[in-house]
Amino acid sequence: MSSPENTTSPLAAPVASVWGVGEERARLLARLNIFTVEDLLLHKPRRYEDRRKFLPIRDLKLKEAATVRGKIVAAGVKRFRRGARAMFECVFDDGTAHLHCRWWQAQPWMEDWYAVGREFLIFGRPDSLKPRNMDHPETEFMEPGEDEFIHVNRIVPIHPLTDGLTARVMRTLVWRALEKFENQIEEPEWSKLQVAGCKLQVEKPAVAIRNEPSTFNLQPSTLLPARANAVRMIHFPNELTDVEIARQRLALDEFVALQFQIQSRRKKFEAVSKALPCGGDNRLMKPFLAELGFKLTAAQTNVLRDIRADMGSAHPMRRLLQGDVGSGKTAVAACSALMALESGFNVALMAPTEILAEQHHRNFVKWFEPLGIKVHLQTGSRKDAPLQVEGCKLKVQKTVVSARKEPSTFNLQPSTLFIGTHALLTGGFDLPKLGLVIIDEQHKFGVAQRETLVRKGNYPHLLVMTATPIPRTLGLTLYGDLDVSVIDELPGGRGAIKTFVRAADKLPKVWDFIREKITAGRQAFVVYPRVEENADGLKAVTKEFEHLKKLLAPFKVGLLHGRLKAAEKEAVMAEFRVNKSQVLLATSLIEVGVDVPNATVMLIENAEAFGLAQLHQLRGRIGRGAHESFCILISDAKTPDSLERLKILAETNDGFKIAEADLKLRGPGELLGQQQSGLPALRFGDLAEDLNLIRQARELVAKTL
Ligand code: ADP
Ligand code: MG
Repeated sequence: MSSPENTTSPLAAPVASVWGVGEERARLLARLNIFTVEDLLLHKPRRYEDRRKFLPIRDLKLKEAATVRGKIVAAGVKRFRRGARAMFECVFDDGTAHLHCRWWQAQPWMEDWYAVGREFLIFGRPDSLKPRNMDHPETEFMEPGEDEFIHVNRIVPIHPLTDGLTARVMRTLVWRALEKFENQIEEPEWSKLQVAGCKLQVEKPAVAIRNEPSTFNLQPSTLLPARANAVRMIHFPNELTDVEIARQRLALDEFVALQFQIQSRRKKFEAVSKALPCGGDNRLMKPFLAELGFKLTAAQTNVLRDIRADMGSAHPMRRLLQGDVGSGKTAVAACSALMALESGFNVALMAPTEILAEQHHRNFVKWFEPLGIKVHLQTGSRKDAPLQVEGCKLKVQKTVVSARKEPSTFNLQPSTLFIGTHALLTGGFDLPKLGLVIIDEQHKFGVAQRETLVRKGNYPHLLVMTATPIPRTLGLTLYGDLDVSVIDELPGGRGAIKTFVRAADKLPKVWDFIREKITAGRQAFVVYPRVEENADGLKAVTKEFEHLKKLLAPFKVGLLHGRLKAAEKEAVMAEFRVNKSQVLLATSLIEVGVDVPNATVMLIENAEAFGLAQLHQLRGRIGRGAHESFCILISDAKTPDSLERLKILAETNDGFKIAEADLKLRGPGELLGQQQSGLPALRFGDLAEDLNLIRQARELVAKTL
């Protein structure tokens, strides 16, 4: 729970201490994750109804949501033929007109509940006006009683509910909780402190926080309410505009609590850890750069300056490197690795897929072995007999990609780069004298995995790299304990990428186009969402493979998906890399890392099945050579929304813009992928919208810690 109260707070009392909550209701509330009084107080309404005046039924408009108030003048069950299914219908009258309401599945309790003469509030969208009709509206029985004032003549909250708990009961419980506990809601510590130089100041007598124009999206004159006021306002606002003010106040508390966690973790870490001296002396770097074949971009050089400073400083590096696909993060990783290697330490590089690990292995063997550095590959499908060397368990085996034979004994002088997948993390595998851990495509790993790898060493330096541009809101929360560097420039000499969104009936033309490009010597990726066909009707690579082979003959098509064995995958990639196959039919498996500069066309079908950030990643596989590249997104999505969504990709190549759009459209969990753990549970904070609040919280905590 993100609240500032500790467990001795009266608000931590079980929700049953609210009058009216017995065993049964406590059980229902538990379904909504409401266990304590505080949980109930922070149960955020899902919408509000302005019940200060009701719309006359006569004035209802087609398809427009509205609340009306009426008495039932007729009601009854209508049976369909054979009587198997029954519909319940009743007619409300408010003196201006009648409103018919229908429920397509009559329930046994309805006849008693919706009895003639009873008065209800009805919320819904009329689907016809002649007669006026709503299907399945939300209703609330206007029970005459002393707590009437809670439910009408004001703006009322409609909370998330569960079967057996009505909006009215929930509202009553929240009201009672407020009456009994409101004055126990304390200001959190941060707002009691007068933080020097901070824009947020609590005014004595500590109820209002002045809002500076630059700090919130509110009007300059607005005062942020005290926490207790905000809690009341979020349920029972005086005006609808109060809701957002209250939400921001409560969200700020959440973000501050989160920043406290993040920043104190970092502080603690710095207190216990001493950095290994890994600044390097350039003796490997110089020959490496001379042989590399290109000059580092200014952005790459700047980032390396940050990294060198970190690796030579008193605290271990904790750095996030963000760079759009193709910005050249691998070269930066290589230079960072060299700094540690020059300093006499080993380095581990972790990649999310075997394909990527093997691609890195190939590159690094080429780059590092001439410098006398061993490059060792460790992936899930390469688990040969473990080898005991000088007290160190290492699983050494021949690799398919490196023709060179692995030595039968492993020389453990600190000059080894270990490359692997999560297999690097599995138990029993020690990484000796580890100076630097590099994690590629961080978003594919959880925070916990990151920590596991780091714990393998004695506080090694950590560099995490990601091509998913992380919107700043997420960066500051999820990666708030990391310093951030950005490569904001692509290496020159790249052809432009053009992106098109097309309906499926344009496919024949698209295939003609692809054939033309292949004939001219280029290669193409074709991406489908599924490996095997299933009920969702999305295209599957295994099903389309034969068809594609025929369609594109005499050109050769390779097939790549996650269910192939590692050796099979590697063989397919090897063919494509040297243009023995011209088309690679693949799943989103190729999303990360794959680097074949001659591939200049990417066709993605059922594009609506992918997230925007993911499509951007996929698109990053092309545009890596000097030729102009083309990305064609095919979608027959029925909703205009999803076409609009895809158009964002056609309009911009800027990963940050795309990620931000994706975050807004699909939320942080989807953007970051299933594996991502460590997303904070926020009730009021919004990771897509609250950048200003998050910044405020971060600044505030930095000044108080
Ligand atoms: P990503 O940041 O997506 O991991 P890579 O490291 O795979 O990108 O780099 C993409 C391509 O750009 C590679 O072929 C790499 O060799 C090349 N590259 C990297 N840096 C430069 C540079 N400074 N100049 C020219 N090409 C570069
Ligand atoms: Mg990469």
